[in-house]
Amino acid sequence: MPDEGVVRLLIFGRQGAGKGTQSVRLAEHYRAPHISTGDMLRSAVANGTAIGLEAQSYMDAGKLVPDSVMLGVVEERLHEPDVEAHGFLLDGFPRTVGQAEALLALTQVDVAIDLEVPEEVVLERISSRRVCQGCGRIYSTAEPPAVPWTCDTCGSQVVQRNDDTPEAVALRLAAYATETLPTIGWFDGKGILVRVDGLGTPDEVTARLIAAISAATSGD
Ligand code: AMP
Repeated sequence: MPDEGVVRLLIFGRQGAGKGTQSVRLAEHYRAPHISTGDMLRSAVANGTAIGLEAQSYMDAGKLVPDSVMLGVVEERLHEPDVEAHGFLLDGFPRTVGQAEALLALTQVDVAIDLEVPEEVVLERISSRRVCQGCGRIYSTAEPPAVPWTCDTCGSQVVQRNDDTPEAVALRLAAYATETLPTIGWFDGKGILVRVDGLGTPDEVTARLIAAISAATSGD
């Protein structure tokens, strides 16, 4: 691993690729804070903060929140002591080349991961996805909580996200194609991108991710 247990990872993946689930697992494995910009914005919306009010209409429509807002959110988080001590696992940021350039001006990144899942698979997963409003734990209609629809972990309500509607999903996938795919290519050009197959059980994918990150950081 890079210097003294500090690891700085980014994870890309289409909506529904399993990025949220895998990010939690990787953050635990590397003992690095999981920084999900989507979770941060959803909590800002729930708390009615100025950033939440500004972001909500973009999010509900499935559009990207402007870079100027996002950079403020992320820069503040990256200066917190847990990040300085352990690094980070960034999930959902950067999503544009502008965000990527701003990020690398702030910090080094060791590995950028592209978790690859075909579009037809993610469409199926998103329509069945349900999320805990309290802790963000992800469920599906096929694997609901023990008591429907109350989170097994924190007891909050488990719901469908406002932006998991077919219209918003179509827009989010379009934004992914026009903005985020070029961002992934940008990291490839920097020589720090690894592509990982996101199909399979969650355990299989986690093992594949850890192996790919080890290979990329072993100095070979
Ligand atoms: P996610 O949970 O990562 O799918 O994010 C949910 C929504 O939050 C996205 O559809 C965007 O509206 C917004 N969002 C999250 N991260 C970003 C980002 N890096 N840039 C712009 N918008 C973002």
